[in-house]
Amino acid sequence: MGCDGGTIPRRDELVRTKKKGEQKDKDSVRKFKWRHCSISQSRLEKPIVACELGNIYSKSSVLEVLLDKDSKPASAEHIKGLKDVKVLNLTKNSAGSMQPSKGDMYLDTEAAEFVCPVVGLEMNGKYKFVFLWSCGCVFSERAVRMVKSETCHKCNTPFSEEDIIVLNPEDNDLDQMRTKMEARRAQLKVLKKEKRKVADETVAVNNGLEAKKKKTDMEKQAKVSAGPSINMPNNGKLLDPAFAKAAATYSVAKDSQKTEVYKSLFTSHKSAKTRETAHWVTYNPLFN
Ligand SMILES: [Zn+2]
Repeated sequence: MGCDGGTIPRRDELVRTKKKGEQKDKDSVRKFKWRHCSISQSRLEKPIVACELGNIYSKSSVLEVLLDKDSKPASAEHIKGLKDVKVLNLTKNSAGSMQPSKGDMYLDTEAAEFVCPVVGLEMNGKYKFVFLWSCGCVFSERAVRMVKSETCHKCNTPFSEEDIIVLNPEDNDLDQMRTKMEARRAQLKVLKKEKRKVADETVAVNNGLEAKKKKTDMEKQAKVSAGPSINMPNNGKLLDPAFAKAAATYSVAKDSQKTEVYKSLFTSHKSAKTRETAHWVTYNPLFN
């Protein structure tokens, strides 16, 4: 067996051992998951959305599968419309740049594009991250568990335990997210039903009110047409002198405030009866 040069063979050089099956590089898988769309498997593009199961997508690829039902993968079966995804409100990592290196600078390939806005953890898959279904803001789970609050740390929208969705969940978390999703959808259905019921009732009530209103309107109108005219003078005299001219009994000839010259312009003036030609100011076909 050789060994002429004084080398000592090791066990694996002499005995055939069973080769291990091909294994995924867990680190690469993890990195890939957090940087790529779950549907298209291409790099995440803004706006970035997530579903109730915590999968991350580019909104454009979600729209594509929604439009073309045949291309919808089984993993996106639960997305029926845009209401089933939420746009993520991510916090950019200002420390590490994901821009390609110019050659003379250090490029940190581990640097995540986004970080937790509360504790600053990087969103690279090493730490558990969650988002809130109520507003879409993304935090590390540590921040949500440690800093207890009933409103979002970033935008102050109130949220409950049911709104917390783990991003890219595994095993136990995935089951939990599925249960939460089903509960949420069942609740929505009930709410919708109740809303419709209330809406139907208000429509019925409104119809009743409208009919009533119509009736009173008609009664009012009948009263108005039967009652005295608003323009009629009150016992021959109007209360407001500004409206005196509007009265049917008003005559310029009897108005003591007008001058004789002004009165002579009108046919009601006594000189009009004896006049043979039209007044030089006013045209009157009676005299032409
Ligand atoms: Zn928020």
